[in-house]
Amino acid sequence: MTPPDSPHVAVIGGGICGLAAAHRLARRGTRVTLLESSDQLGGLGTFFAHGDRWLERFYHCIMPSDASLLALLGELGLRDAVRWRETTMGMVVDGRHHPFNSALDLLRFPALRLPDRVRFGVVSLLLRRLGRGRDLDTLRTEDWLRGLYGDVVWERLFAPMFGSKFGPAFGDVPALYLWQRLGRERNVATRGYPDGGYKAIIDALQASITRAGGVVRASTPVERLSSTEGRSVLTLAGGEVLDADQVISTVPLPLLRHLADDALAARLPETELPYQGVVTGVFFLRKPVTEHYWTPVLHSGTEFDGVVSMSALAGADDGRHLVYVMHYTDRGSRLYLDDDAAIAARWSAQLRGLYPELGADGIEEVRVFKAPFVEPVYPLGYLAARPPVTVDGTGVLLATTAHVYPDVTSWNSSVRLANDVVSLVAHQPAVAPAR
Ligand SMILES: Cc1cc2nc3c(=O)[nH]c(=O)nc-3n(C[C@H](O)[C@H](O)[C@H](O)COP(=O)(O)OP(=O)(O)OC[C@H]3O[C@@H](n4cnc5c(N)ncnc54)[C@H](O)[C@@H]3O)c2cc1C
Repeated sequence: MTPPDSPHVAVIGGGICGLAAAHRLARRGTRVTLLESSDQLGGLGTFFAHGDRWLERFYHCIMPSDASLLALLGELGLRDAVRWRETTMGMVVDGRHHPFNSALDLLRFPALRLPDRVRFGVVSLLLRRLGRGRDLDTLRTEDWLRGLYGDVVWERLFAPMFGSKFGPAFGDVPALYLWQRLGRERNVATRGYPDGGYKAIIDALQASITRAGGVVRASTPVERLSSTEGRSVLTLAGGEVLDADQVISTVPLPLLRHLADDALAARLPETELPYQGVVTGVFFLRKPVTEHYWTPVLHSGTEFDGVVSMSALAGADDGRHLVYVMHYTDRGSRLYLDDDAAIAARWSAQLRGLYPELGADGIEEVRVFKAPFVEPVYPLGYLAARPPVTVDGTGVLLATTAHVYPDVTSWNSSVRLANDVVSLVAHQPAVAPAR
């Protein structure tokens, strides 16, 4: 337990970054209060109920290279609760389905001519090596990939794939992002999913924080934040005021800017990244439509850009096959602002078009979820422009998805960032860590 005179740290945001930071602080004996605006913890990894199961609003999986996340799961006693599976990838181009896993798949891939298939295979094998030692942070993804793979592969495959993730500026994203992503995935088909879903991790973190004397408050949006060195004041919904010695903010910078009083706002980093949001459709199907975990859908007349079959990773749910489809988009776009029921109806028709075997009654239920701030769209040279996690002259530390670059945004990179930021919080050495 923490002594009452221990410095108090407020953590804004109960996604994985805030939960991991609060867990680490509480376990080392720092007085911590975590404040989450929504009535559920977990942020982008949060859940919804389906029958007696909890499922993610947005598809999530763990990679074997997710060292920081796996170490955290070890601390929580959940390391062995991760079920690992070999997964495969498909590709839909012009409405036609292809497996996309082996050299043979590539040689038979009709969406490219034979010379482009061979070039694709050779370059893909060498890509990580070709990037080593190069300043990829200042090289446009389009310039790098067009040069290596040629115009046809860029235009047929990569432009729609990157465009679907990053929007109109996709070609300008630094090549370093792709290089890092390939490093995370390492051409490995093994993916993990925790028993009990991501909710099991979220619950375990909440329990760990409270057991160690920390406070976790959901449904508690921070509405105002002022901060000078040594004293921060948080105004919560309903006018309640909370004092803290330090604050860790995990919310995207555009949101923090709204909360900050004028003095703090003037000290926040000037560079503000554009963010892509996302719309996902979660489909409960009466029959399986694909054995592949991940299938990009290109040039096929759908509004969504890919299909993720969670059943291929986590197994069918009581005979129901769970498929996510997604489109990353700006939070002001027509699609994002469209009515959920209208999206569900259109995307159901489009999914049936892709998989006619679904027939009229193959879709049992559809849920639509949206998130406004998902993928920061990094500009060239962001390694140098990335804002520091400290905000001079204040007690605020920043731990946002815009700070994980060049790592890919993931639970792993958020946990690593949380660890780094917590190490900057003043430590009260006399306090014994709670068990
Ligand atoms: C479609 C999709 C697929 C993904 N797939 C994967 C995957 O397979 N594997 C993986 O590891 N990662 C995946 N991710 C990425 C991962 O979910 C994120 O990188 C990670 O969850 C970011 O966590 P965070 O805590 O930094 O931010 P967030 O999860 O965004 O948490 C921020 C929290 O702050 C809260 N908040 C905002 N304003 C306030 C306020 N004023 N007061 C209090 N609280 C506030 C929000 O409600 C939110 O809970 C995926 C994301 C999406 C959207």
